[in-house]
Parts: sequence; structure tokens; C-alpha cells
Amino acid sequence: MTLSIPFDNSYATLPDRFYTRQGAAPVREPRLFAFNDALARTLGLEGFDDPAELAEIFAGNTLPEGAAPLAQLYAGHQFGGFSPQLGDGRALLLGEVATGTGRFDIQLKGSGPTPYSRMGDGRAWVGPVIREYLMSEAMAAIGVPTTRALAAVTTGEPVLREDGPLPGAILTRVAASHIRVGTFQVFAARADRDALQQLTDYTIARHFPRAGGPMGLLHALMEVQADLVAHWMSIGFIHGVMNTDNMAISGETIDYGPCAFMDAYHPNTVFSSIDRQGRYAYSNQPPIAHWNIAQFASALVPIMGDEDKAVDDLTEAIKAFPPLYEAAWLRHFGAKFGLAEATPDDRPLIEEFLTHMAQEGLDFTNTFAALPDVPAGLQDWARRWQARGPDMDLVARSNPRVIPRLHRIEAVIQSAVADDFAPFDEMLSVVTDPFAPADPLYTAPPAPEERVSRTFCGT
Ligand code: AMP
Ligand code: MG
Ligand code: MG
Repeated sequence: MTLSIPFDNSYATLPDRFYTRQGAAPVREPRLFAFNDALARTLGLEGFDDPAELAEIFAGNTLPEGAAPLAQLYAGHQFGGFSPQLGDGRALLLGEVATGTGRFDIQLKGSGPTPYSRMGDGRAWVGPVIREYLMSEAMAAIGVPTTRALAAVTTGEPVLREDGPLPGAILTRVAASHIRVGTFQVFAARADRDALQQLTDYTIARHFPRAGGPMGLLHALMEVQADLVAHWMSIGFIHGVMNTDNMAISGETIDYGPCAFMDAYHPNTVFSSIDRQGRYAYSNQPPIAHWNIAQFASALVPIMGDEDKAVDDLTEAIKAFPPLYEAAWLRHFGAKFGLAEATPDDRPLIEEFLTHMAQEGLDFTNTFAALPDVPAGLQDWARRWQARGPDMDLVARSNPRVIPRLHRIEAVIQSAVADDFAPFDEMLSVVTDPFAPADPLYTAPPAPEERVSRTFCGT
């Protein structure tokens, strides 16, 4: 059967200056190593039973009927410094599908150079493709808003990186959209008021139809980001590169680069090799989200009428973020302790537990997964917790037993580089069933010699 994707493209109807239309650069020998059947079905794809055909399509060698491929333009603050023009440097939006649960982008990542590639080759190697596949599918299974992985192929072509040639790969990613804070910033920086207004209208219609206008959109973004970052914090997830171009307006986790789940808990944990100042450390994620939202608010000024009034109103509006985050934090951490209605009075109880974990360097995931058993040294704490009447089913539902640990991902990548994808398949099946008991291979923290302390903006 031939693959059919029910494309219904809307971004491609926006003005030309929002993107560059172009096709993918073909690759020599595409081979499919992962395909997400369940996701394909929810997206309305049909006829996805021929791996050779899927490999050609999800490598970009064959354009599926109805696709309108384009590279999206955006800008962004990278580590605090503004880059006025970024864009899809190695990705192409094939198009969108509209399903019963919403509209989704289907994007190739690693599909070749675009006008936005700057010095890059437009390609990806198999390591980051595997990392994003495992991470994003694990996050989805845990219940965190995230982009998804639909397919992954190797290209049969080497990609040149610092340490030499590595096997090339392409990921097909699905997102509620790829509209970023940086998509607004690029038009604000160009003083392109019309584009900014069109993007705002489009984004509101697509994501927050009740928002009404820019102020409502800002509020909606604060709500989804407060919830997202609190959810990350509650599972020990560190995004690693929260630049404004990597913050999706939809509220999905996007751009899995140097991200990681912590093993031993410490709030200052940083993995990214290029994050020398710890800007994107675990505990900095909420204030960075707030900072990014302030950049988003700034980008809205040109479409808000009187400039002085707009600045005053927006400055006031973004003060809502810390309390929204605080409420989301209580929701997510409260649930971990079985407290569906956690209140600010529960904060000290939760913080005491976290402080103990940090002091003892306890494993984040396993300590929570062991509840109601509490670490030695917290017996008095346990009495106070029990007095709150925690719901143990909620505890079990809120604490994943398995997360994709960095050292296991690295082992899977090494096997894949040696052309053995069986460890990838096995790990994917384990991390997408995160609340089930799992093999200690996946739940044990890394032995000292297995520990991965640095991640790379893995291109
Ligand atoms: P990131 O922070 O990894 O999301 O990427 C920041 C910018 O660099 C984006 O505009 C990417 O499209 C671009 N980029 C990353 N890797 C490559 C690559 N291999 N080739 C071209 N552009 C890239
Ligand atoms: Mg154009
Ligand atoms: Mg990015």
C-alpha cells in the first residue's frame, strides 16, 4: 500500500516572508529504524506498512502527496544574546494534519541545508536523533506536553562532527506547532508590524481561540509554560537550552538537545557542555521561563497601540508568571506526594523532602518511585506526611519508575553507531511504559564509571 498523509496545510498560506519554500536534499541509502504506528494512526496516516517506502519519505527523498515543504523563519535569544535571524537550519515542515485532537505539524529534522543553516550542514547524526526519539516519547508517556517522534531513518551518509564522521540520520517530529517565542521576535526585530499581527492572529486561532488578542495570548503562554516547567521540575528534567527559539507557544517541550533527567538530585545540576554559567541549570528553569516570557511580551509591543501604555501594561501582566508557576509547582509536586489539593501550607513539607534528597544526593526518580517508603532520616517527616492523608494511587500515578537515563541513552547510541538498533528498540519499549516496574538495567542510577556528566548541543 502507498502511504497517505491527510495534509491540511495552513502555515504555508501565511505570507512568503514567514518561511522559505524548499525540498529536502536526497540521501544515499535511507533505512527506517523506528516508526511510531500508534502516533501515525492518531494523525490519520494510512498505508504505513512498507518500511522501504517509509524510509524514502521520511528521509526526504520522496515528497508525499499534499506536502508543501518549507523552512520556517525565527529569531531568538541564545544564552541571553539576541540573534536577529535563526530559522530551520536543518529542518523542514512537510505540512500539517488536522485530527480530532487538533492540528499537528509534521517536520523532518536533519533533512539538509536551508537558507537559515548559517555555518551548519543541515544534517543530524544518529546520536541526537536517538536521544530526541527516546526523550520525547518518554516525556509523552509520562504525560508531559511535548513534541513527538513519528519516524527515524539513517541516511547511509556520514555526517562530519568534531570527533570524525558519524552515521547520518533524520528524525520526523510532530508538534502542535513549531511557533516559538522567537517566531514573534523575528518580526518585532524587523519592525514588521503586519507580519506580527498576522502571526498573532494565526497563533490565537490555532492554539488559544479564546485568547481574544495579544494580552490574552500572553496570559495563555504564561499558563502553559508555568505548567510545563513545573512538570519538568517534578520529574527532574533539565531542558538544557531554554533559548527563546526553543520555547514553543503551544506549551510543548521542544528541541531536545543537551537535555537530561537528573540521577542524583541537586538543584544546581547542569549538563550542557556549553552552559558554563549554569544559565539553564535545573533550578534556574522557572526564572528563565519568566525571562523568556518577558521577551515574548516585548515582541508584542508593536501591535499593542500606544507604546508607553503597552510597555506598562505588559510589564504589569508578566508579574502573573511567578504566582502561576507557584500554583503549578504545588499541583505537580503535591501530586507526587498524593496531595491532590496541595496548598501553600504544604510547601515546607515538600521542600524538606527535597532538601534531604539534595543533602544526601539521592536519586531523584527512584526516591519518589519508592514512596510510600521514605529515605532513612525522614521518619518524623513521614509521620507528618501521613497525617496529611495522602492518596497512594495518586502517588503511584505521579512518580514514574523509569526515565531515559543519560548513561543508558549513550549506550544505546554506541550500539546504533555499530549498526545494532536492538538496544534502541528495547529501551524505547521500557521508557514508554514509565509507571510499570522495569528491569534494573533501566532503573539503576549509573555506576561511577558509567556516569555522563556532560551533554552536547548534539547536532
Ligand atoms: P538549537 O539551539 O539546537 O535548536 O539550534 C539553534 C539554531 O541552529 C537553529 O536555527 C537550528 O536550525 C540551527 N542548527 C542547529 N544544528 C544545525 C545544523 N547541523 N545545520 C544547520 N543549522 C543547524
Ligand atoms: Mg519566503
Ligand atoms: Mg532549536
